[in-house]
Amino acid sequence: MDSEQLREYGHKMVDFIADYYNNIENFPVLSQVQPGYLRKLLPDTAPAHSETLEDVLEDVQKKILPGVTHWQSPDYFAYFPSNSSVAGFLGEMLSAGINMVGFSWITSPAATELEMIVLDWLAKALKLPDEFLSTGQGGGVIQGTASEAVLVVLLAARDNVLRRVGKDAIDKLVVYCSDQTHCSLQKACQIGGIHPENFRMLKADPSSDYALSPDTLSEAVSHDMATGLIPFFFCATIGTTSSTAVDPLLALGKIAKSNNMWFHVDAAYAGSACICPEYRHYINGVEEVDSFNMNAHKWFLTNFDCSALWVKDRSALIQSLSTNPEYLKNKASQGNLVVDYKDWQIPLGRRFRSLKLWMVLRLYGLEKLQAYIRNHIELAKLFEELVAQDQRFEIVTTRKFSLVCFRLLPLQSNEDYANKLNHDLLDVVNSTGKLFISHTLLSDRYILRFAVGAPLTEEKHIIAAWKVLQDEAATLLSKY
Ligand code: PLP
Repeated sequence: MDSEQLREYGHKMVDFIADYYNNIENFPVLSQVQPGYLRKLLPDTAPAHSETLEDVLEDVQKKILPGVTHWQSPDYFAYFPSNSSVAGFLGEMLSAGINMVGFSWITSPAATELEMIVLDWLAKALKLPDEFLSTGQGGGVIQGTASEAVLVVLLAARDNVLRRVGKDAIDKLVVYCSDQTHCSLQKACQIGGIHPENFRMLKADPSSDYALSPDTLSEAVSHDMATGLIPFFFCATIGTTSSTAVDPLLALGKIAKSNNMWFHVDAAYAGSACICPEYRHYINGVEEVDSFNMNAHKWFLTNFDCSALWVKDRSALIQSLSTNPEYLKNKASQGNLVVDYKDWQIPLGRRFRSLKLWMVLRLYGLEKLQAYIRNHIELAKLFEELVAQDQRFEIVTTRKFSLVCFRLLPLQSNEDYANKLNHDLLDVVNSTGKLFISHTLLSDRYILRFAVGAPLTEEKHIIAAWKVLQDEAATLLSKY
Protein backbone atom coordinates (compact mmCIF):
# COMPACT_ATOMS: atom_id res chain seq x y z
CA MET A 1 0.00 0.00 0.00
CA ASP A 2 1.55 3.28 -1.15
CA SER A 3 0.32 5.77 1.43
CA GLU A 4 0.78 8.80 -0.82
CA GLN A 5 -1.18 7.14 -3.61
CA LEU A 6 -3.85 6.26 -1.06
CA ARG A 7 -4.04 9.90 0.01
CA GLU A 8 -4.35 11.14 -3.57
CA TYR A 9 -6.72 8.46 -4.87
CA GLY A 10 -8.64 8.33 -1.61
CA HIS A 11 -9.47 12.02 -1.84
CA LYS A 12 -10.54 11.59 -5.46
CA MET A 13 -12.73 8.65 -4.55
CA VAL A 14 -14.36 10.49 -1.66
CA ASP A 15 -15.06 13.41 -4.02
CA PHE A 16 -16.54 11.00 -6.55
CA ILE A 17 -18.80 9.43 -3.91
CA ALA A 18 -19.82 12.83 -2.48
CA ASP A 19 -20.76 13.94 -6.02
CA TYR A 20 -22.72 10.72 -6.45
CA TYR A 21 -24.76 11.58 -3.37
CA ASN A 22 -25.24 15.16 -4.62
CA ASN A 23 -26.66 13.83 -7.87
CA ILE A 24 -28.39 10.72 -6.61
CA GLU A 25 -31.86 12.08 -7.34
CA ASN A 26 -31.01 12.45 -11.04
CA PHE A 27 -30.71 8.69 -11.55
CA PRO A 28 -33.70 6.39 -12.13
CA VAL A 29 -34.07 4.78 -8.70
CA LEU A 30 -34.58 1.31 -10.18
CA SER A 31 -31.92 0.56 -12.76
CA GLN A 32 -33.51 0.45 -16.19
CA VAL A 33 -30.83 -1.63 -17.99
CA GLN A 34 -31.52 -4.95 -19.71
CA PRO A 35 -29.92 -8.27 -18.66
CA GLY A 36 -26.39 -8.64 -20.07
CA TYR A 37 -25.98 -4.90 -20.72
CA LEU A 38 -22.53 -4.71 -19.14
CA ARG A 39 -20.84 -7.42 -21.20
CA LYS A 40 -21.47 -5.27 -24.25
CA LEU A 41 -19.69 -2.33 -22.63
CA LEU A 42 -16.60 -3.92 -21.05
CA PRO A 43 -13.66 -5.76 -22.67
CA ASP A 44 -13.54 -9.57 -22.66
CA THR A 45 -10.25 -9.80 -20.78
CA ALA A 46 -8.48 -7.96 -17.96
CA PRO A 47 -6.06 -5.20 -19.08
CA ALA A 48 -2.45 -6.29 -19.48
CA HIS A 49 -1.20 -2.90 -18.30
CA SER A 50 -2.30 -0.60 -15.52
CA GLU A 51 -4.95 2.00 -16.27
CA THR A 52 -5.59 5.35 -14.60
CA LEU A 53 -8.07 5.97 -11.81
CA GLU A 54 -9.66 8.66 -14.01
CA ASP A 55 -10.38 6.06 -16.72
CA VAL A 56 -11.88 3.68 -14.20
CA LEU A 57 -14.05 6.39 -12.63
CA GLU A 58 -15.26 7.43 -16.06
CA ASP A 59 -16.38 3.85 -16.65
CA VAL A 60 -18.07 3.79 -13.25
CA GLN A 61 -19.98 6.93 -14.19
CA LYS A 62 -20.94 5.85 -17.70
CA LYS A 63 -21.20 2.08 -17.48
CA ILE A 64 -21.64 0.98 -13.87
CA LEU A 65 -23.97 3.59 -12.37
CA PRO A 66 -26.66 3.04 -15.04
CA GLY A 67 -26.75 -0.57 -13.83
CA VAL A 68 -27.10 0.41 -10.18
CA THR A 69 -30.40 0.50 -8.32
CA HIS A 70 -29.97 3.42 -5.98
CA TRP A 71 -30.79 2.09 -2.51
CA GLN A 72 -29.58 5.36 -0.98
CA SER A 73 -31.88 7.49 -3.14
CA PRO A 74 -34.44 9.44 -1.10
CA ASP A 75 -37.03 8.02 -3.53
CA TYR A 76 -36.18 4.41 -2.64
CA PHE A 77 -39.15 2.76 -0.89
CA ALA A 78 -38.72 -0.91 -1.87
CA TYR A 79 -38.12 -4.06 0.25
CA PHE A 80 -36.58 -2.69 3.45
CA PRO A 81 -33.97 0.07 3.58
CA SER A 82 -30.26 -0.66 3.61
CA ASN A 83 -28.82 2.44 5.19
CA SER A 84 -25.52 4.13 4.65
CA SER A 85 -24.25 7.12 6.61
CA VAL A 86 -21.08 9.15 6.89
CA ALA A 87 -20.35 7.35 10.17
CA GLY A 88 -20.97 3.92 8.66
CA PHE A 89 -18.95 4.81 5.58
CA LEU A 90 -16.01 6.00 7.66
CA GLY A 91 -16.12 2.82 9.71
CA GLU A 92 -16.03 0.76 6.49
CA MET A 93 -13.14 2.86 5.27
CA LEU A 94 -11.19 2.35 8.47
CA SER A 95 -11.90 -1.36 8.38
CA ALA A 96 -10.66 -1.54 4.78
CA GLY A 97 -7.62 0.48 5.79
CA ILE A 98 -6.64 -1.75 8.70
CA ASN A 99 -7.74 -4.84 6.76
CA MET A 100 -7.10 -7.48 9.38
CA VAL A 101 -8.78 -10.88 9.54
CA GLY A 102 -10.07 -11.25 13.07
CA PHE A 103 -11.05 -14.89 13.38
CA SER A 104 -9.34 -15.45 16.75
CA TRP A 105 -8.74 -12.93 19.50
CA ILE A 106 -4.98 -13.13 18.89
CA THR A 107 -5.34 -12.12 15.22
CA SER A 108 -6.43 -8.64 16.37
CA PRO A 109 -7.53 -8.38 20.00
CA ALA A 110 -9.17 -4.99 19.40
CA ALA A 111 -11.48 -6.44 16.75
CA THR A 112 -12.90 -9.09 19.07
CA GLU A 113 -13.04 -6.86 22.13
CA LEU A 114 -14.63 -3.91 20.32
CA GLU A 115 -17.28 -6.24 18.87
CA MET A 116 -18.11 -7.55 22.34
CA ILE A 117 -18.31 -4.04 23.80
CA VAL A 118 -20.36 -2.54 20.96
CA LEU A 119 -22.84 -5.41 20.99
CA ASP A 120 -23.19 -5.01 24.75
CA TRP A 121 -23.93 -1.31 24.15
CA LEU A 122 -26.56 -2.15 21.57
CA ALA A 123 -28.08 -4.89 23.76
CA LYS A 124 -28.43 -2.31 26.54
CA ALA A 125 -29.97 0.22 24.14
CA LEU A 126 -32.55 -2.44 23.23
CA LYS A 127 -32.98 -3.37 26.90
CA LEU A 128 -32.26 -7.00 26.16
CA PRO A 129 -31.98 -9.23 29.24
CA ASP A 130 -28.57 -9.26 30.94
CA GLU A 131 -28.06 -12.88 29.88
CA PHE A 132 -27.35 -11.59 26.37
CA LEU A 133 -24.39 -9.54 27.56
CA SER A 134 -20.85 -10.77 27.05
CA THR A 135 -20.22 -10.49 30.79
CA GLY A 136 -22.31 -13.63 31.43
CA GLN A 137 -22.77 -16.95 29.60
CA GLY A 138 -24.07 -15.31 26.44
CA GLY A 139 -22.99 -12.47 24.22
CA GLY A 140 -23.31 -10.79 20.85
CA VAL A 141 -21.60 -11.40 17.54
CA ILE A 142 -21.77 -9.61 14.20
CA GLN A 143 -22.84 -11.89 11.38
CA GLY A 144 -22.91 -10.82 7.76
CA THR A 145 -26.67 -11.23 7.41
CA ALA A 146 -29.79 -12.32 9.26
CA SER A 147 -29.66 -15.47 7.13
CA GLU A 148 -26.30 -16.43 8.61
CA ALA A 149 -27.59 -15.55 12.08
CA VAL A 150 -30.55 -17.91 11.88
CA LEU A 151 -28.39 -20.63 10.35
CA VAL A 152 -25.83 -20.63 13.16
CA VAL A 153 -28.46 -20.69 15.89
CA LEU A 154 -30.39 -23.44 14.12
CA LEU A 155 -27.22 -25.53 13.98
CA ALA A 156 -26.54 -24.87 17.66
CA ALA A 157 -30.10 -25.83 18.59
CA ARG A 158 -30.02 -28.93 16.40
CA ASP A 159 -26.81 -30.19 17.95
CA ASN A 160 -28.07 -29.40 21.44
CA VAL A 161 -31.12 -31.58 20.99
CA LEU A 162 -29.23 -34.33 19.14
CA ARG A 163 -26.82 -34.60 22.06
CA ARG A 164 -29.85 -35.30 24.22
CA VAL A 165 -31.86 -37.64 21.96
CA GLY A 166 -29.15 -39.21 19.80
CA LYS A 167 -27.91 -38.42 16.30
CA ASP A 168 -30.22 -40.93 14.61
CA ALA A 169 -33.23 -38.82 15.58
CA ILE A 170 -32.39 -36.03 13.14
CA ASP A 171 -35.33 -36.90 10.87
CA LYS A 172 -37.68 -36.43 13.82
CA LEU A 173 -36.63 -32.84 14.54
CA VAL A 174 -39.29 -30.22 13.79
CA VAL A 175 -38.90 -26.49 13.15
CA TYR A 176 -41.81 -24.05 13.54
CA CYS A 177 -42.46 -20.56 12.25
CA SER A 178 -45.30 -18.68 10.62
CA ASP A 179 -45.92 -18.53 6.90
CA GLN A 180 -44.76 -14.89 7.13
CA THR A 181 -41.26 -15.86 8.32
CA HIS A 182 -38.38 -14.85 6.08
CA CYS A 183 -37.24 -17.61 3.69
CA SER A 184 -33.78 -17.56 5.30
CA LEU A 185 -35.12 -19.97 7.94
CA GLN A 186 -36.15 -22.43 5.24
CA LYS A 187 -32.67 -22.19 3.76
CA ALA A 188 -31.13 -22.74 7.20
CA CYS A 189 -33.23 -25.90 7.56
CA GLN A 190 -32.11 -27.12 4.15
CA ILE A 191 -28.46 -26.59 5.06
CA GLY A 192 -28.97 -27.97 8.57
CA GLY A 193 -30.34 -31.30 7.33
CA ILE A 194 -33.84 -30.82 8.75
CA HIS A 195 -36.25 -33.16 6.98
CA PRO A 196 -38.22 -30.96 4.53
CA GLU A 197 -41.51 -32.37 5.82
CA ASN A 198 -40.61 -31.22 9.32
CA PHE A 199 -40.40 -27.56 8.46
CA ARG A 200 -43.74 -26.15 9.68
CA MET A 201 -44.77 -22.81 8.24
CA LEU A 202 -47.89 -22.27 10.33
CA LYS A 203 -50.62 -20.08 8.92
CA ALA A 204 -50.43 -16.60 10.36
CA ASP A 205 -53.70 -15.01 11.39
CA PRO A 206 -55.00 -12.43 8.87
CA SER A 207 -57.36 -11.06 11.53
CA SER A 208 -54.40 -10.11 13.71
CA ASP A 209 -52.48 -8.54 10.85
CA TYR A 210 -50.60 -11.75 10.02
CA ALA A 211 -49.14 -12.44 13.46
CA LEU A 212 -48.83 -16.08 14.54
CA SER A 213 -51.45 -17.15 17.05
CA PRO A 214 -50.09 -19.00 20.11
CA ASP A 215 -52.95 -21.52 19.76
CA THR A 216 -51.77 -22.40 16.26
CA LEU A 217 -48.25 -23.08 17.54
CA SER A 218 -49.50 -24.99 20.54
CA GLU A 219 -51.74 -27.25 18.44
CA ALA A 220 -48.98 -27.98 15.92
CA VAL A 221 -46.49 -28.86 18.65
CA SER A 222 -48.95 -31.12 20.48
CA HIS A 223 -49.87 -32.89 17.26
CA ASP A 224 -46.23 -33.51 16.34
CA MET A 225 -45.34 -34.75 19.80
CA ALA A 226 -48.26 -37.16 19.72
CA THR A 227 -46.85 -38.67 16.53
CA GLY A 228 -43.37 -39.13 18.02
CA LEU A 229 -41.70 -36.13 16.42
CA ILE A 230 -39.38 -33.79 18.35
CA PRO A 231 -40.16 -30.06 18.27
CA PHE A 232 -36.83 -28.28 18.76
CA PHE A 233 -36.75 -24.83 17.14
CA PHE A 234 -39.19 -21.96 16.91
CA CYS A 235 -38.60 -18.67 15.16
CA ALA A 236 -40.80 -15.64 15.81
CA THR A 237 -40.55 -12.43 13.85
CA ILE A 238 -40.81 -8.84 14.99
CA GLY A 239 -41.56 -6.97 11.78
CA THR A 240 -42.17 -9.58 9.07
CA THR A 241 -40.82 -8.96 5.60
CA SER A 242 -44.19 -8.74 3.86
CA SER A 243 -46.10 -6.51 6.25
CA THR A 244 -44.09 -5.94 9.48
CA ALA A 245 -46.35 -8.25 11.49
CA VAL A 246 -45.30 -8.73 15.10
CA ASP A 247 -45.55 -12.19 16.62
CA PRO A 248 -46.60 -12.13 20.31
CA LEU A 249 -43.33 -13.11 21.99
CA LEU A 250 -44.62 -13.51 25.51
CA ALA A 251 -47.29 -16.11 24.75
CA LEU A 252 -45.30 -17.87 22.03
CA GLY A 253 -42.22 -17.98 24.25
CA LYS A 254 -44.11 -19.82 26.99
CA ILE A 255 -45.05 -22.55 24.52
CA ALA A 256 -41.53 -22.78 23.12
CA LYS A 257 -39.99 -23.00 26.58
CA SER A 258 -42.46 -25.47 28.02
CA ASN A 259 -41.63 -27.74 25.07
CA ASN A 260 -37.85 -27.38 25.37
CA MET A 261 -37.50 -25.61 22.06
CA TRP A 262 -34.83 -23.11 21.07
CA PHE A 263 -36.61 -19.78 20.67
CA HIS A 264 -35.12 -17.42 18.07
CA VAL A 265 -36.39 -13.93 17.31
CA ASP A 266 -35.85 -12.39 13.91
CA ALA A 267 -36.11 -8.62 14.30
CA ALA A 268 -33.95 -7.95 11.24
CA TYR A 269 -35.77 -4.77 10.22
CA ALA A 270 -37.90 -3.68 13.19
CA GLY A 271 -35.32 -4.34 15.89
CA SER A 272 -33.87 -0.87 15.24
CA ALA A 273 -37.16 0.78 16.26
CA CYS A 274 -36.98 -0.94 19.65
CA ILE A 275 -34.27 1.47 20.82
CA CYS A 276 -37.15 3.97 21.17
CA PRO A 277 -38.99 3.52 24.49
CA GLU A 278 -42.38 3.81 22.75
CA TYR A 279 -41.62 0.83 20.43
CA ARG A 280 -39.72 -1.32 22.92
CA HIS A 281 -42.95 -3.07 23.94
CA TYR A 282 -42.87 -4.98 20.64
CA ILE A 283 -40.12 -7.16 22.09
CA ASN A 284 -41.70 -7.63 25.50
CA GLY A 285 -41.19 -11.30 26.27
CA VAL A 286 -37.64 -11.30 24.92
CA GLU A 287 -36.65 -12.69 28.34
CA GLU A 288 -37.81 -16.13 27.11
CA VAL A 289 -35.73 -15.96 23.96
CA ASP A 290 -32.55 -17.97 23.31
CA SER A 291 -31.29 -15.82 20.45
CA PHE A 292 -32.19 -12.41 19.07
CA ASN A 293 -31.16 -10.83 15.78
CA MET A 294 -31.40 -7.39 14.22
CA ASN A 295 -29.76 -6.02 11.09
CA ALA A 296 -27.91 -2.81 11.85
CA HIS A 297 -27.42 -2.63 8.09
CA LYS A 298 -31.12 -2.18 7.46
CA TRP A 299 -32.47 0.78 9.41
CA PHE A 300 -29.64 1.71 11.76
CA LEU A 301 -27.37 3.81 9.56
CA THR A 302 -24.68 1.13 9.43
CA ASN A 303 -23.43 0.28 5.97
CA PHE A 304 -24.02 -3.26 4.73
CA ASP A 305 -23.12 -5.78 6.12
CA CYS A 306 -23.73 -5.81 9.86
CA SER A 307 -26.22 -8.21 11.42
CA ALA A 308 -26.20 -8.28 15.22
CA LEU A 309 -26.94 -11.62 16.85
CA TRP A 310 -27.16 -12.23 20.59
CA VAL A 311 -27.34 -15.60 22.31
CA LYS A 312 -27.96 -16.46 25.93
CA ASP A 313 -25.68 -19.48 25.87
CA ARG A 314 -22.60 -18.99 23.74
CA SER A 315 -21.37 -22.50 24.51
CA ALA A 316 -24.17 -23.92 22.31
CA LEU A 317 -22.81 -22.03 19.30
CA ILE A 318 -19.24 -22.93 20.11
CA GLN A 319 -20.00 -26.63 20.52
CA SER A 320 -21.50 -26.69 17.02
CA LEU A 321 -19.09 -24.46 15.18
CA SER A 322 -15.66 -24.70 16.75
CA THR A 323 -12.57 -26.28 15.23
CA ASN A 324 -9.12 -26.32 16.76
CA PRO A 325 -6.43 -27.05 14.16
CA GLU A 326 -2.77 -26.90 15.14
CA TYR A 327 -2.02 -23.91 12.91
CA LEU A 328 -4.52 -21.72 14.80
CA LYS A 329 -3.49 -22.73 18.34
CA ASN A 330 -2.30 -19.94 20.63
CA LYS A 331 -1.94 -19.34 24.34
CA ALA A 332 -4.99 -17.11 24.78
CA SER A 333 -7.34 -19.51 23.00
CA GLN A 334 -5.92 -22.64 24.60
CA GLY A 335 -6.21 -21.02 28.02
CA ASN A 336 -9.89 -20.20 27.41
CA LEU A 337 -9.11 -16.60 28.24
CA VAL A 338 -10.77 -15.06 25.20
CA VAL A 339 -13.63 -15.15 22.74
CA ASP A 340 -12.66 -16.53 19.32
CA TYR A 341 -15.44 -15.42 17.02
CA LYS A 342 -14.47 -18.01 14.38
CA ASP A 343 -16.39 -20.44 16.61
CA TRP A 344 -19.61 -18.38 16.45
CA GLN A 345 -19.94 -18.24 12.66
CA ILE A 346 -19.66 -20.25 9.42
CA PRO A 347 -16.49 -18.83 7.81
CA LEU A 348 -13.11 -18.60 9.43
CA GLY A 349 -12.16 -15.11 8.23
CA ARG A 350 -14.03 -12.09 9.47
CA ARG A 351 -13.90 -8.35 8.91
CA PHE A 352 -13.58 -5.56 11.49
CA ARG A 353 -17.29 -4.79 11.22
CA SER A 354 -17.70 -3.49 14.75
CA LEU A 355 -15.80 -0.34 13.76
CA LYS A 356 -18.69 0.97 11.66
CA LEU A 357 -21.30 0.17 14.30
CA TRP A 358 -19.11 1.85 16.91
CA MET A 359 -18.73 4.91 14.68
CA VAL A 360 -22.51 5.05 14.17
CA LEU A 361 -23.24 4.76 17.88
CA ARG A 362 -20.63 7.39 18.77
CA LEU A 363 -21.11 9.92 15.98
CA TYR A 364 -24.92 9.89 16.35
CA GLY A 365 -25.55 8.87 19.95
CA LEU A 366 -28.75 7.07 20.94
CA GLU A 367 -30.92 10.20 21.06
CA LYS A 368 -30.21 11.09 17.44
CA LEU A 369 -30.68 7.49 16.37
CA GLN A 370 -34.08 7.47 18.08
CA ALA A 371 -34.99 10.72 16.34
CA TYR A 372 -33.92 9.20 13.02
CA ILE A 373 -36.26 6.21 13.48
CA ARG A 374 -39.13 8.42 14.66
CA ASN A 375 -38.78 10.70 11.66
CA HIS A 376 -39.16 7.77 9.25
CA ILE A 377 -42.17 6.51 11.14
CA GLU A 378 -43.73 9.99 10.92
CA LEU A 379 -43.06 10.05 7.17
CA ALA A 380 -44.68 6.63 6.80
CA LYS A 381 -47.68 7.94 8.74
CA LEU A 382 -47.91 10.83 6.32
CA PHE A 383 -47.91 8.45 3.36
CA GLU A 384 -50.53 6.31 5.07
CA GLU A 385 -52.75 9.38 5.57
CA LEU A 386 -52.39 10.37 1.92
CA VAL A 387 -53.42 6.88 0.80
CA ALA A 388 -56.32 6.77 3.26
CA GLN A 389 -57.68 10.07 1.88
CA ASP A 390 -57.90 8.69 -1.67
CA GLN A 391 -60.91 6.41 -2.03
CA ARG A 392 -59.42 4.66 -5.05
CA PHE A 393 -56.89 2.99 -2.68
CA GLU A 394 -57.04 0.95 0.49
CA ILE A 395 -54.62 0.41 3.38
CA VAL A 396 -54.26 -3.34 3.79
CA THR A 397 -52.63 -3.89 7.19
CA THR A 398 -52.18 -1.71 10.26
CA ARG A 399 -48.93 0.20 9.96
CA LYS A 400 -46.63 -0.42 12.91
CA PHE A 401 -43.26 0.93 11.85
CA SER A 402 -42.27 2.64 8.60
CA LEU A 403 -43.87 0.27 6.08
CA VAL A 404 -47.26 0.98 4.53
CA CYS A 405 -49.05 -1.91 2.78
CA PHE A 406 -51.69 -0.68 0.37
CA ARG A 407 -53.39 -1.41 -2.92
CA LEU A 408 -55.35 0.21 -5.67
CA LEU A 409 -58.99 -0.86 -5.60
CA PRO A 410 -60.33 -2.32 -8.82
CA LEU A 411 -63.41 -0.90 -10.50
CA GLN A 412 -64.93 -4.42 -10.48
CA SER A 413 -64.60 -6.63 -7.42
CA ASN A 414 -62.64 -9.47 -8.91
CA GLU A 415 -59.44 -10.63 -7.18
CA ASP A 416 -57.56 -11.66 -10.35
CA TYR A 417 -58.33 -8.34 -11.85
CA ALA A 418 -57.28 -6.49 -8.67
CA ASN A 419 -54.00 -8.39 -8.58
CA LYS A 420 -53.24 -7.60 -12.20
CA LEU A 421 -54.13 -3.95 -11.68
CA ASN A 422 -51.72 -3.60 -8.77
CA HIS A 423 -49.03 -5.58 -10.54
CA ASP A 424 -49.35 -3.21 -13.52
CA LEU A 425 -49.31 -0.17 -11.23
CA LEU A 426 -46.07 -1.37 -9.64
CA ASP A 427 -44.49 -1.90 -13.06
CA VAL A 428 -45.44 1.48 -14.48
CA VAL A 429 -44.48 3.37 -11.35
CA ASN A 430 -41.07 1.69 -11.12
CA SER A 431 -40.40 2.16 -14.81
CA THR A 432 -40.78 5.93 -14.41
CA GLY A 433 -37.53 5.79 -12.42
CA LYS A 434 -38.98 8.42 -10.08
CA LEU A 435 -39.42 6.03 -7.17
CA PHE A 436 -38.99 2.35 -6.42
CA ILE A 437 -41.53 0.31 -4.45
CA SER A 438 -41.93 -3.46 -4.10
CA HIS A 439 -44.80 -5.86 -3.56
CA THR A 440 -45.92 -8.92 -1.65
CA LEU A 441 -48.79 -11.38 -1.52
CA LEU A 442 -51.04 -11.43 1.55
CA SER A 443 -53.87 -13.99 1.54
CA ASP A 444 -53.28 -14.34 -2.23
CA ARG A 445 -53.78 -10.64 -2.74
CA TYR A 446 -51.11 -8.65 -4.56
CA ILE A 447 -50.12 -5.81 -2.22
CA LEU A 448 -47.91 -2.79 -2.76
CA ARG A 449 -45.28 -2.04 -0.11
CA PHE A 450 -44.02 1.47 0.60
CA ALA A 451 -41.10 1.22 3.02
CA VAL A 452 -39.72 4.51 4.29
CA GLY A 453 -36.17 4.32 5.62
CA ALA A 454 -33.61 5.75 3.23
CA PRO A 455 -31.53 8.31 5.17
CA LEU A 456 -32.09 11.13 2.66
CA THR A 457 -35.89 10.80 2.44
CA GLU A 458 -37.84 13.93 3.42
CA GLU A 459 -41.49 14.92 3.39
CA LYS A 460 -41.21 16.32 -0.15
CA HIS A 461 -40.12 12.90 -1.45
CA ILE A 462 -43.15 11.22 0.13
CA ILE A 463 -45.48 13.77 -1.43
CA ALA A 464 -43.81 13.48 -4.84
CA ALA A 465 -43.92 9.68 -4.71
CA TRP A 466 -47.61 9.72 -3.84
CA LYS A 467 -48.30 12.08 -6.76
CA VAL A 468 -46.60 9.64 -9.19
CA LEU A 469 -48.64 6.77 -7.74
CA GLN A 470 -51.88 8.73 -8.07
CA ASP A 471 -51.16 9.87 -11.62
CA GLU A 472 -50.17 6.41 -12.82
CA ALA A 473 -53.19 4.89 -11.06
CA ALA A 474 -55.50 7.35 -12.82
CA THR A 475 -54.02 6.48 -16.20
CA LEU A 476 -54.31 2.74 -15.53
CA LEU A 477 -57.88 2.95 -14.27
CA SER A 478 -58.90 4.88 -17.38
CA LYS A 479 -57.47 2.09 -19.58
CA TYR A 480 -58.94 -0.88 -17.72
N1 PLP B 1 -35.57 -11.45 8.25
C1 PLP B 1 -36.37 -10.47 7.87
C2 PLP B 1 -37.58 -10.13 8.70
C3 PLP B 1 -36.08 -9.74 6.70
O1 PLP B 1 -36.92 -8.79 6.30
C4 PLP B 1 -34.93 -10.06 5.96
C5 PLP B 1 -34.59 -9.30 4.75
O2 PLP B 1 -35.20 -8.35 4.39
C6 PLP B 1 -34.12 -11.11 6.41
C7 PLP B 1 -34.47 -11.78 7.56
C8 PLP B 1 -32.89 -11.51 5.67
O3 PLP B 1 -31.92 -10.57 5.84
P1 PLP B 1 -30.43 -10.79 5.35
O4 PLP B 1 -30.38 -10.27 3.95
O5 PLP B 1 -29.61 -9.98 6.29
O6 PLP B 1 -30.12 -12.24 5.42
